[in-house]
This record gives sequence, C-alpha cells and structure tokens, in this order.
Amino acid sequence: MSDVVVVGASVGGLTVAEALRGKGFTGRISLVGDEPRLPYDRPPLSKEVLTGRWSAEALHLRDSRRLDELEIDWLLGHRAERLRLGSRTVELDGGKALHYGSLVIATGLVPRRPAGFAGARTLRTLGNALRLKQELRTAQRVAVIGGGVLGCEVAAAANTLGKQVVLIEPGQVPMAAQLGAELGGHVAALHESRGVRLTTGAGAVRLVEGTSHVELTSGEVVEADLAVLAIGSAPATGWLEGSGLHLDDGVRCDASLRAADDVHAVGDVARWSDGTGTTARLETRTNAAEQALVVAANILGGDRRYDPVPYFWSDQYGVRIQVHGAITPDARIRIVEGNPGEDRFLALAEQGGVVTAAIGWNHPRGVRAARRMLRHPELAGGIR
Ligand SMILES: Cc1cc2nc3c(=O)[nH]c(=O)nc-3n(C[C@H](O)[C@H](O)[C@H](O)COP(=O)(O)OP(=O)(O)OC[C@H]3O[C@@H](n4cnc5c(N)ncnc54)[C@H](O)[C@@H]3O)c2cc1C
Repeated sequence: MSDVVVVGASVGGLTVAEALRGKGFTGRISLVGDEPRLPYDRPPLSKEVLTGRWSAEALHLRDSRRLDELEIDWLLGHRAERLRLGSRTVELDGGKALHYGSLVIATGLVPRRPAGFAGARTLRTLGNALRLKQELRTAQRVAVIGGGVLGCEVAAAANTLGKQVVLIEPGQVPMAAQLGAELGGHVAALHESRGVRLTTGAGAVRLVEGTSHVELTSGEVVEADLAVLAIGSAPATGWLEGSGLHLDDGVRCDASLRAADDVHAVGDVARWSDGTGTTARLETRTNAAEQALVVAANILGGDRRYDPVPYFWSDQYGVRIQVHGAITPDARIRIVEGNPGEDRFLALAEQGGVVTAAIGWNHPRGVRAARRMLRHPELAGGIR
C-alpha cells in the first residue's frame, strides 16, 4: 500500500489518519505539523482556555493510547516548505523530503495582520491562547478588533474576566457574515447587556505607535492596555506557491475534495466546487472532520462527493449559538420557539419560502430537530 503523507496535524489531518486506519489501511501514514504538540482542539481556545476553566491538557483531540494505536509517523515541529507534484515529494524544513502515494493538505489558516497592527495579539494556536490569557491577567482595558465569531468570543471571555472591553466592528452589527443583520443585532444586544462597549461603522486603522490604543477610521482612539486582532484569516497555502496546484483563497478541489492526482485537501484550507461552478470554503470544526471522512474514503478508491449541511456553534456568556445550514444576507428570520429577550429561542432562516438554516440560541434540542428539515423540506410542516 502506498504511503500517505498528511500535512497539518490538527482535526482535519488527524481525522483522515484515523479514518484510514478505521477502514483497514495498513500502509505508512506520516503526519507533519509545524506546531510542536500533539493535535489539540481549537474551539476551546477562545472560550474555556481564555477564561481559565480548562487547562491545555484538556484539549487533546485523542488520548495517547488512541494515538499509539493509529501507528502514525509523527513529524511534529516540522514545516512543509515545498510540494513537488512531479516527483510526489513534500520538502520539509531541515532538508528532509517525504515521498507520498497520497497527499492530504490540511494546513488551516493564518490570521491576517495588516501593517500598523504589529503590537496586537492574534488567536489561532494554543501558544497564542496561553500568551493572551497571561496578558489578560494584568490588562484592564481590552480592545477587540473585529466583531466576527472569534472577536465576539474573545470579547465575551475578557468581559467574563472582569475587563473593560471595547468591541470594534466596522459593519453595523457583529457576526453579520454568519448570522445576517437581524440575528447580528441580538449578538450586539447580548454584548451590550453584559457591559461591553460596541463601536460599529468604523474600522481600525492602526495601533497608536508604542501603545495598544486603536485608531479608528472615524478619528476616535480607543485606549487599551491590550489589543486583540480578529479580522479574519487566510488559507495557509504559502508553501504550495509554484507547486502547480490551483490556489484561489484556498486549495481548489473538485466535489470529491481532490486537488490533483492523489492530492486532497481538507478543512479550513480547502475550497471545493460543487460541480456547477460554485465554490465554497468553510472555517468550522465540523466541516474539517466531515471532509476528512470523505477524503479517507476517496484515498482508498472511493468517489464520495462532499455535500454538507454546514454547521457551526459559538459560546458567548453562557449562550450557545448554533447554526445548521446557511443564512443568506436577505433571508427572512422567523422565530419559531422562545424569545430573544429571554436568551433562548429557535429561529429559521428562509429564502424564497425555502428554509435554508436553523438557528438555536441556547436551544440545542430544537435546532437538532429543525436540522432534519434542511435535508428533508417536506418535514417543514412539523415546525410552527
Ligand atoms: C480560537 C478558535 C476558536 C474556534 N471556535 C470554533 C467554534 O466554536 N466552532 C467551530 O465550528 N469552529 C471553531 N473554530 C474553527 C475550527 O477550530 C477550525 O475550523 C478547525 O481547527 C480547522 O481544522 P483544520 O485541521 O482544517 O486546520 P487547523 O486546525 O488550523 O490546523 C492546521 C494545522 O496545520 C499546521 N500547518 C500550517 N502550515 C503548515 C506547514 N506548511 N507545515 C506543517 N504544518 C502546517 C498549523 O500550524 C496547524 O497546526 C475555532 C478556531 C479558533 C482558532
């Protein structure tokens, strides 16, 4: 059996390896990761780790016995620097080259950091989280730049720790890209009800030299002891430049997540096409794990297409927001159970009379049930 090389030792990469073993693959699996640690889970970094509820040990994706069973050749603390499709090799830092029969690209994202924000913290790795947690001990005023999912979670964590938090969002409401304007308004209200100052309609220009104060496009300067930059991330494809793979805000793949002969991509880095010309890339934990199962099957000769109902969740101030499906910008939001004022509701997003997403706001049971409708619209009558 030919060797499988996986680059990126996180949820996507590890799940491919585990699924291959689960399907009886006995060949060599090498897992290359530039972080010097065994695979860990990222979602708790902005939640339980920042607030101090979980230690780093609680984040391991699999325990050591399970990892031993997988018989993986670990190459942790090593960076893939180049892919040569012709000779089927991945070159690592330090000069080592790995030959592959199948290659899986699972390198995730790198936070964006425009010029002028050198002194701001970003949050992608456990190392980032531990440093931020340490700095939150002494900082009193925290400026969070970017009101996406990550920025909102960092703001919530800092607020929970008793900090004065300013959340800076250039749009009209936080999380608009994920939730749309109406539900984003509920996120704004949630933060403001807990004492976070939300500034909207003006973006951050730069940090004032030598400080963590944030200058906004409106001219306002938000004074802070600590600035956190959460303005999005870019696919980690720098090492693939010049390889011949099609790179376009991610590694372009077909509907089977195949990027080239015997090369697949999974997780945050993968931009796949549904075959009609539409492409998508998702930055969610569930997507990485689900794509990994498809890729493992396809490496072993299958031809499975990836056709997900997208899912993500976010935890802020003890509120769990869950979304199955996709909310289009002009979707109609219908609350079908509960009440936003009571921090618990179930909503449906509808577009042209079709339900495109189920949204749970502290309503896990309802959102699980509503999810089935996205695949089976005939069930919609069961939900008021
Ligand atoms: C703070 C935080 C909170 C999150 N919260 C949620 C949440 O609540 N809900 C949700 O659905 N999703 C959440 N996510 C997103 C989720 O964690 C990601 O979707 C998931 O981790 C993607 O997995 P992945 O395997 O594709 O990539 P990653 O987890 O990013 O792993 C990629 C790995 O590849 C390594 N790598 C990169 N380049 C190279 C190279 N050249 N050579 C070797 N190794 C390389 C990286 O260092 C990294 O270890 C969160 C993410 C973060 C950062």
